[in-house]
Amino acid sequence: MDLYSKLEVLDRIYKIYDAFTDSLELACQRYCSTCCTRNVIITSIEGYKIADHLIENGKSELFKKIKDESYKKRFRPIITTNKIADLCIQGKELPDEEIDSSWGNCPLLINDECPIYMVRPFNCRCMVSKTNCVDKAEMDPFVLTVNNVFLQYIEHIDQQGFSGNFTDVLLFMESEDNRKNYSMEVLKEIGKDLIKNMPMPLLLVPPEHKQQIKPIINSLQTIKVRRKPK
Ligand code: SF4
Ligand code: SF4
Repeated sequence: MDLYSKLEVLDRIYKIYDAFTDSLELACQRYCSTCCTRNVIITSIEGYKIADHLIENGKSELFKKIKDESYKKRFRPIITTNKIADLCIQGKELPDEEIDSSWGNCPLLINDECPIYMVRPFNCRCMVSKTNCVDKAEMDPFVLTVNNVFLQYIEHIDQQGFSGNFTDVLLFMESEDNRKNYSMEVLKEIGKDLIKNMPMPLLLVPPEHKQQIKPIINSLQTIKVRRKPK
């Protein structure tokens, strides 16, 4: 899939997910930012989209903000969502990963607002709670299943790309050469803190959610890509 198609499909995936969350009763609202930690994981296609947005909208100074805070500890995944699914299918153990929300806020958070809200990555969109997280986050198990399916799809469409912490992916995509090589699918090196994506082996859906999730999976499977305008 070429870059244009991937970005188109990503937008459609976001729209389907936003329609899903619109149907939920949530405590989420503006200036509510407890979930905006520095542990957000994104895929390369999302990083490309955000980097392109920053450059095209005169917000390149935000790269500096990300870089200035890049010495701080953050979650760096060692396997992707589809790799987790693969290991689960094979009945293998998952590696231990260290993550702690006390490591601090997302480097982009400004006055409890997200400066890239319209293009925020999926892992920010899917942080939703029935109760205010300051007291206690509460997510319906079905929402967790849906989130996982969307994460698998996004990695799948970006299977030639990679994933990593928001900071690491954005600093990689700040480089024009890296963006160009990524868009042409000729990337030779990815940073040591980034991990390669893979196709989804099988969707991880528990038996009790198989029926309920069908309409959402149908919507994802029927995404059509429009032809690139000349
Ligand atoms: S997930 Fe929690 S912290 Fe984030 S917007 Fe929703 S209620 Fe607020
Ligand atoms: S990118 Fe935006 S929504 Fe996501 S964690 Fe950072 S400030 Fe919050």
